[in-house]
Amino acid sequence: MAKIALLPGDGIGPEIVAEAVKVLEAVAQVQDLSFTWETADMGGIAIDRHGTPLPEATLAVCRSAAGVLLGAVGGPKWDALPGDERPEAGLLGIRKGLGLYANLRPARIFGPLEAASTLKPEVVAGIDILVVRELTGGLYFGRPRFREVLPNGGMRAVDTLEYTTIEIERIARVAFKAARGRRGMVTSVDKANILESSRLWRETVTKVGEEFPDVELSHLFVDNCAMQLLRNPQQFDVILTTNMFGDILSDEVAMLTGSLGMLASASLGGEVGLYEPVHGSAPDIAGQGVANPLAAILSAAMLLAYSLDNPEGAALVERSVESVLAQGFRTRDIWQPEDRLVDTKTMGNLVVAAILGGGVYDRQNHSL
Ligand code: NAD
Repeated sequence: MAKIALLPGDGIGPEIVAEAVKVLEAVAQVQDLSFTWETADMGGIAIDRHGTPLPEATLAVCRSAAGVLLGAVGGPKWDALPGDERPEAGLLGIRKGLGLYANLRPARIFGPLEAASTLKPEVVAGIDILVVRELTGGLYFGRPRFREVLPNGGMRAVDTLEYTTIEIERIARVAFKAARGRRGMVTSVDKANILESSRLWRETVTKVGEEFPDVELSHLFVDNCAMQLLRNPQQFDVILTTNMFGDILSDEVAMLTGSLGMLASASLGGEVGLYEPVHGSAPDIAGQGVANPLAAILSAAMLLAYSLDNPEGAALVERSVESVLAQGFRTRDIWQPEDRLVDTKTMGNLVVAAILGGGVYDRQNHSL
């Protein structure tokens, strides 16, 4: 019996995690498995209840689970707090605390959503990109990091960009291994024409690549990659990159698919995998029942694949999402006039019904 830790968080987090749980329960029913759940506080709700965004007890719950499903954290209520006391500090803390150095963000365009992208359908048709982002090094963690007042009264602020060969080797291996199960191509993205840390990145990735002769490795400068993603995204399979470049490029890749509400992610490398939607807590729509739960549901599918070694269950969830979209059901963020508008819970129920082999959707009551 696998235990799954739930960290619903803030804003729309609890609404979408509830739908992902329903979906995992449906998979368990079909596959004759059983899951146990333990919920813990993280983010703003943890600040309110425990005075810190990431209580030790929450980390302990995560460590005792087979996988962790996170909703989202943050919101205007906590925006005035200093950086390291804000809900988002919990995100950096949990990555460090669980040793999660590899962030995987798949961006696949579901056929029925090709028209929802801001790019032309023929440009985005069939894209299936996996961004592998280094998560615990680089500019976001480098030291020294400080501000000082200059003699002229102005300020100086310093961040440090550093990488070690060990950090680069381990994330590169994640990318090469992932490519083996896909189209066998890795594009490593850096700024080796300018940055010393990028030159080490490129040399090290090239060396690790020799261990994977069956995977085709190429290198791109980050500015060129940003441009190629809009010009011809179909050329990419796995994109391997640093913490900061990955932060930016993965949001660009996200927009190719049409909506943030569709994108899942996995953070791996440590004792337990953490799965969460790419989007934030969407305070503007929290509590209205209109959030798209599919990113959370697809994150739950990644949990099945990577933490529970259940690729069949993951594929079942993905196929079910695709079939619900093919029937024209959409939450507001991806809705167009010819579609059937549904709320958060109904979208979850529809995916559950597809998993269980087809429930009948009651249009009047928006239920199954
Ligand atoms: P956001 O992703 O929360 O929202 C951006 C826009 O997308 C909003 O208009 C929102 O309504 C919409 N949106 C996002 N997810 C959606 C969904 N599932 N369905 C429908 N629409 C959706 O980003 P933001 O507004 O920049 O940030 C809001 C808060 O979330 C901030 O406090 C931020 O720090 C936090 N945040 C948290 C995470 C995380 O928990 N991993 C990630 C990013 C931002």
